[in-house]
Amino acid sequence: MKIGIIQERRKNENRVALTPDIIEKISKYDIETVVETNAGKASGFSDESYQNAGAQILKSAADVCKQADILCKIWAPLKEEAKLLRAGQVIIANFQALAFPENKSIAAKAGTTAFALDLLPRISRAQSMDILSSQSNLAGYKAVINAFYLLKKAVPLMMTAAGTVTPAKVMVFGAGVAGLQAIATAHRMGAQVFATDVRPETAGQIASLGAKFVSAEDAPKTLASCNAAITTALAPNGTAPRLISKDQILSMPEGAVLVDMAAAFDGNIEGSKEGETLNIDGRLICGNSNLASEIPNSASPLFAKNILKFLSLIYSFQDKKLNLNFDDELINKTCICINGEPR
Ligand code: NAD
Repeated sequence: MKIGIIQERRKNENRVALTPDIIEKISKYDIETVVETNAGKASGFSDESYQNAGAQILKSAADVCKQADILCKIWAPLKEEAKLLRAGQVIIANFQALAFPENKSIAAKAGTTAFALDLLPRISRAQSMDILSSQSNLAGYKAVINAFYLLKKAVPLMMTAAGTVTPAKVMVFGAGVAGLQAIATAHRMGAQVFATDVRPETAGQIASLGAKFVSAEDAPKTLASCNAAITTALAPNGTAPRLISKDQILSMPEGAVLVDMAAAFDGNIEGSKEGETLNIDGRLICGNSNLASEIPNSASPLFAKNILKFLSLIYSFQDKKLNLNFDDELINKTCICINGEPR
């Protein structure tokens, strides 16, 4: 039984599914791992670090796919990658199965047994395997860093002999995993933070992070006073509610920066475009739904740890055998096909 990883070929993806620390843990069970050369390079992990952890470096994705019985990936196989897969091979990845059902068919047509980690139920037993949470958390942090980098204004309150610099005001839309981290990060950096969410139970969580909860009704008025906005509302099926209109963008002070974390899915902000920073009358709109990829050296180890935890559920490291118990809802809900048979 061999476990393999390849370079992610999706555009702007810098992460890698397994990191050397996790490979080392797998190697301790005497399980072979195969890694495509440079698979971890964009995340800051050299071939040498994988070799030192016990992996064998192979020169192409095709070589890895030929040998690996279990292939771990960040994203579901692309069409061109699917040609390399083998019937019976096990694939573990983020399939975005609800938003892009065609990803499931690609894995099924290749005859694989595939697990979509994005379909893990959000129960406490699944937390250590929850790729959506681990990556959204980092993405929420990075959204704030990107916004503050582009802001022409200092963030914290500063009282100097030459005068007082007022703190930047930030509004966060959506207080899920990404939003709560964005609130915490902006607050730690000294901003005055406001946040809104349709779930009333988030009011307490928002307050505990030092921000002020704002109702949906009051959101436009508060936004108009803010220097930055981060929007994080995205349903797992890929639908994103429209939260900020063009008029509301223009109601913000000149120089305002808005980060739309749902830009790849129509966006929370009118006119936002994935991967682009647009200037609308002096306000910057940054569309980026894959921010974890911009901090791959932190994101990949968390993703890899999630995969290891999931692997321990479906694979017995002691017996070196797959152990698929479909009575376990974590296995039942994530398995999208078995040997090519869709479920
Ligand atoms: P998400 O990415 O689905 O959405 C982000 C947030 O946007 C949510 O809080 C949502 O209520 C909010 N939102 C949606 N429409 C909105 C609108 N029109 N205006 C304002 N806000 C809007 O959220 P998420 O990060 O997946 O987290 C959702 C919930 O699941 C949270 O309660 C989180 O704590 C919980 N969760 C549980 C686990 C677990 O137990 N394993 C893991 C992760 C998340």
